[in-house]
Amino acid sequence: MDFQLNEDNQSIQDLAKQFTKNEIIPTAPGYDLSMEYPWDIVKKAHAAGLLNVSVPEKFGGLGLGHFNQTLIQEQFSYGCTGIATAITANDLALGPLLLAGSDAQLEEFATPMTKVPTVAAYCVTEPGAGSDVQAIRTTAKRDGDHYILNGSKMWITNGGVASWFYVLATMDSTKGHKAMVALLVPSKLAGVQIGKKEINVGQRCSDTRGITFDNVKVPAAYRLGNEGDGFKIAMKAFDFSRPGVAAGAVGLSQRCLDESVRYAKERKTFGKAIAEHQAIQFILADMAKDIEVARLVTYKSAVELDAGRRNTKFASIAKCFAGDMAVRIASDAIQVFGGYGYNTEYPVEKLYRDAKIYQIYEGTQQIQRMIIAKHLLDEY
Ligand SMILES: Cc1cc2nc3c(=O)[nH]c(=O)nc-3n(C[C@H](O)[C@H](O)[C@H](O)COP(=O)(O)OP(=O)(O)OC[C@H]3O[C@@H](n4cnc5c(N)ncnc54)[C@H](O)[C@@H]3O)c2cc1C
Repeated sequence: MDFQLNEDNQSIQDLAKQFTKNEIIPTAPGYDLSMEYPWDIVKKAHAAGLLNVSVPEKFGGLGLGHFNQTLIQEQFSYGCTGIATAITANDLALGPLLLAGSDAQLEEFATPMTKVPTVAAYCVTEPGAGSDVQAIRTTAKRDGDHYILNGSKMWITNGGVASWFYVLATMDSTKGHKAMVALLVPSKLAGVQIGKKEINVGQRCSDTRGITFDNVKVPAAYRLGNEGDGFKIAMKAFDFSRPGVAAGAVGLSQRCLDESVRYAKERKTFGKAIAEHQAIQFILADMAKDIEVARLVTYKSAVELDAGRRNTKFASIAKCFAGDMAVRIASDAIQVFGGYGYNTEYPVEKLYRDAKIYQIYEGTQQIQRMIIAKHLLDEY
C-alpha cells in the first residue's frame, strides 16, 4: 500500500488544479449569480482533456480510469461544485453506457463526446419516485423495431443541455425491477419535452430540469443490455459515479478549511487573531481530520473499482461520510467567519448552500446507510 500518487495521477491532479485556479475559481461567483450553464468552462475542460475522461481509448477517449476521474472531480469542486456537477453529471450518464453498451452504441453515443464538447444526462428520478426507484412509472412499450416511451422524469442534471439521455422505464409496472428497460434517448427525438430550469438552493449553474417523454419513438437498437436489465444497470452506475460525488464533497470541504484558516489568521478579537483562540483551533482541527478520513475512503472506493473489485459498500461509505461532512464543515466555516460568513461578499455562504445537495442526490444519506447495512448483514 502506497499513499503517494504515482506520476500519472500527480500530473492529472496538477492539470485539474491549474484549470480550477485559472478557469473555475475566478468565474464561479458570476455563474452562481447568473445561474447560467457554464458552457465556456465545459468547452475549455474538453479542450484541456478533462471532460469525459472515462471513455475508453478504443472509443476515442482517454480511458483514464475512475481514480483519475475522482482526482479531477475533487479539484473542480474545490473551485465550484455547481460547475463540477455540470461537468461530471456526464459521468453519471456515461456509467450505464460504459457498463452495458455494445461497441456500436459506444461509437454512436460516447465517441462524439470525445470529439466535441457535448453532455448527457441520467434520467431515473420521477415526480413520484426518487429513493424508491422500483416505483417509476415511465413506460416503454415494444412496437416492432422501436419502443414507445411515455412518462415524466424530475430533477435531471444537465436536462436542458444534454444531447442524449440514459432513461430507465418499465415495460410492466406490476412486475417491479424485473420489467425495467434502459434506453439511450437522443434529446432531439420528437416528443422529448424539456421543462423549465429549476432554481435550487445551491449549485445554481448546474442545469436541473424535468423531462417529459410523449410517445417518443426510440429505436430498439438503443436499448442497453436486455429487457429486464435496466434496474441493475441503473444501480451499478452508482458504483462508477459515487466516488466522484464523494470527491466533490471533499473538494468543497477542503475549500472551506482553506478559507477558514486564512480568515482566522487575519481576523482579530480580544487583541489577537481568532486563530489563537483554542476554540477556533479545534474547529479547524476537526475539519482537517474529517477531510483526511473522507479523502482516504473516497480514493479507496475509486481504486477498488479500477482494480476490478466490487466497490458498492465503499462508494456508499465515501458518499455518505463525505456528504455529511461537507454540510457540517460548510456550517462551521460560516461560524469561523462570524457575521461576515453569512454575507454574499465572502465565499463561505455559497459553499454552505452548495454543500446540502451532497446529502440528497445520487441516493440520499438514508439510502447510503441502507446499502452499507445490507452489505454488513450479508457479509457477517
Ligand atoms: C439538484 C438535484 C439534482 C439531481 N440530479 C438527478 C439526476 O441527474 N438524475 C436523476 O435521476 N435524479 C437526480 N436527482 C434526484 C435525486 O437523486 C433524488 O432527489 C433523491 O434520490 C431522493 O429522492 P426524492 O427527492 O424523491 O426523495 P424521497 O425518495 O421522497 O425521500 C424523501 C426522504 O425520505 C427518506 N427516505 C426515503 N425512503 C426511505 C427509507 N426506505 N428509509 C429511510 N428513509 C427513507 C429519504 O432519505 C429522504 O430523506 C437530483 C436531485 C436534485 C435535488
